[in-house]
Amino acid sequence: MSISDWVRPGIRAMAGYQPGEQPAPGQRVIKLNTNENPYPAPAVVLDALREAAAGEALRRYPVPDARPVREAAARAYGLDPDQVVVGNGSDDLLTMLLRTFVGPGENVVAPAPTYSLYETLTNIQGGAYREVPWGVGGSLLVRAIADADPALVFITRPNAPFGFACGLEQVAALCRAVDAPVVLDEAYADFASDNGLALLAEHPNLIVTRSFSKGFSLAGLRLGLGFAHPEVAAELHKVRDSYNVDALAQAGAAAALDNLDAYRPNLDAVVAERARMTQALRERGFRVAESQANFLFARVPHGDARPWYEALKERGILIRYFPDEELADGLRISIGTPEENEALLGVLDGISGG
Ligand code: PMP
Repeated sequence: MSISDWVRPGIRAMAGYQPGEQPAPGQRVIKLNTNENPYPAPAVVLDALREAAAGEALRRYPVPDARPVREAAARAYGLDPDQVVVGNGSDDLLTMLLRTFVGPGENVVAPAPTYSLYETLTNIQGGAYREVPWGVGGSLLVRAIADADPALVFITRPNAPFGFACGLEQVAALCRAVDAPVVLDEAYADFASDNGLALLAEHPNLIVTRSFSKGFSLAGLRLGLGFAHPEVAAELHKVRDSYNVDALAQAGAAAALDNLDAYRPNLDAVVAERARMTQALRERGFRVAESQANFLFARVPHGDARPWYEALKERGILIRYFPDEELADGLRISIGTPEENEALLGVLDGISGG
């Protein structure tokens, strides 16, 4: 008897998704490695959560299809509730998309580098994951994706880990070029100067996903939204886990969506710090990509990136190190509060001998 013989070969061969490092319990660190929001959610959202916890919400099952959240999202974004699906984090929506559209051996295609979970979910589903380098660019990128015969396409905008936003015209061209659903992963769109929601009206194969973990300061609650053509949304609902969005998450989501204005100061502060940190890092010799997200991708002024990551970690600052050759050895740094960002710059100055 061998347990490994019972496991599907595709699962046995997988490493599994590696989420960002968590500090040890009780350890105080400046955590700039998983692109969380440095500020808490507005009081009106936290109050709604407390109120829900104090009432009947925990004893009862939640609304199975999160209809009240879908209605709040429809009001907030000018859509119909039938175009909205709610997930246990936007990761849950990505899972639903794979289940709905990708059969064994079918291709999932994404410009790379990108969010590594797409590949993991494709492997779980038994699909074939194919990447096209972002560097191909423009209409050639669109052609290369279409030529890869996709059953599903993922475009991350703003992109991770670099933070750039590809042209919306390129997204529209891709929707026209492929006979398959195109997922526009907008986990970071709350920090960007534009987004692709308006493209939904013209492109029935477009699906936009959003996260509450970044712009809405609710990573611990696990919430995501999917926007799609009503026929697509209806199919996605069929593959949802039962009660996939818990009652507290539904209460928090509705409060957040009904109070988008309350998030403005928080989002503006992150965007202002992003500009300041881009400049501050460039002044120190880092090569920093222009970012539309709540993180920066930086290449170090000299030598390998790993020692910089390790020196920061030793001093209690967690960032993300990307060793991948393709990424030319870089650091991804989430935007923190001004104090956290200053602490990071201070440590970097120490490391570089500045
Ligand atoms: N998409 C991208 C591009 C991400 O970086 C992340 C965060 N790791 C997600 C989706 C998932 O976010 P959520 O917390 O909503 O599951």
